[in-house]
Amino acid sequence: MSLIVQKYGGSSLADAKKIKNVAYRVAATSDAGNRVVVVVSAMGDTTDELVELAYSLTDQPPAREFDILLSTGEIVSSTLLAMTLEAMGYAAISLSGAQAGIKTDSAYSRARILGVNPKRIEKELDKDRIVIVAGFQGVTEDMDTTTLGRGGSDTTAVALAAGLKAEACHIYTDVEGIYTADPHLVTGAQSLAEIGYEEMLELATYGAKVMHPRAVELGELFNIPILVASSFKNSPGTLIHGGVSMEVRNKVSGIAHDLNVAKITVVGVPDRPGIASSIFEPLAEAGISVDTIVQNASIKNITDLTFTVAKGDLSRAMEVIRPIAESIDALQCASDSKLGKVSVIGTGMLNTPGFAAKMFSTLSREGINIQLITTSEIRITCIIDEAKVGEAVHALHRAFELEQAK
Ligand code: ASP
Ligand code: MG
Repeated sequence: MSLIVQKYGGSSLADAKKIKNVAYRVAATSDAGNRVVVVVSAMGDTTDELVELAYSLTDQPPAREFDILLSTGEIVSSTLLAMTLEAMGYAAISLSGAQAGIKTDSAYSRARILGVNPKRIEKELDKDRIVIVAGFQGVTEDMDTTTLGRGGSDTTAVALAAGLKAEACHIYTDVEGIYTADPHLVTGAQSLAEIGYEEMLELATYGAKVMHPRAVELGELFNIPILVASSFKNSPGTLIHGGVSMEVRNKVSGIAHDLNVAKITVVGVPDRPGIASSIFEPLAEAGISVDTIVQNASIKNITDLTFTVAKGDLSRAMEVIRPIAESIDALQCASDSKLGKVSVIGTGMLNTPGFAAKMFSTLSREGINIQLITTSEIRITCIIDEAKVGEAVHALHRAFELEQAK
């Protein structure tokens, strides 16, 4: 008997009819002779609504209360799915993240899973029950509820697949798999049959919303193949795994984009040891994660330092930075919140010249100005005007001939 972990996203559970659809799929997997653990997200936009509700009452919801509040969305969907399965004649039980043994650190809203104690789940599986786990949440050593960051129920699923030594981890969503670009934006985007962990991690980190980056990282760490497929259609989906063929690896896999980018430039910074740490340490202490960092070569010991943060963190980051800039005698602090990122990703670019040149010439032909560039071995990212991101993705998708990919 195989043990299968399935995860269903919020849009697949958005109303009673969709919950029934998921219940049928879970039941079919159980009927096929598998032991099934299901991880669920909150119904539809529940999490966004809970966030909004909290902020309608206070500008600064206490982190602990906020996480308990957000975790309730997944409790609702897990209980409703368990009830539906019971009504269909299947033995099922819902478990919260804490009951399912998901242990995390205490970084509220972005907690990391420290370990999984699968005892309770195994006990329920031994009683021939289908186990429904509320995703996106865990519990600290002190028994406080935490959440894993937006989109975190993917991570719950992969962590459970690892902890339970499951045969398979299936992520069911509202698209047919991993695409060469966001299919909502590019109509010619193709669903990929397979993709390696490292490319998937770059795609997820640089804007592809289908998978939570941490889930991909865990998949790679524990070598768990992850199938991403539609919860509405019976299409083959995309397999994320470590054994991708050379032919597939020799290409660009996709174009990712992200509209959530703001830039801060500290102008006229004295170039001496300790300056970068005096800027970035306080940002880290404030829990602000900094992405791209560029420091210019200095002229007469004066330099400019530019970095990006998520748009939602910009005003807090500026509050932290302004007094520091003054204390280190920088000339000024400027910010721009209307930016986006577009990235070309593929193991094909490893040690192969020409990919960057092609990306830059494509953007220049479209009249798109590049503000910052960052790269990894398998990714080139340009930060550009937010309003140009759509055009850039289309042009790059064409230039790298991704319509033909498959
Ligand atoms: N419900 C949470 C969110 O909207 C977690 C998830 O969907 O994976 O971010
Ligand atoms: Mg989600």
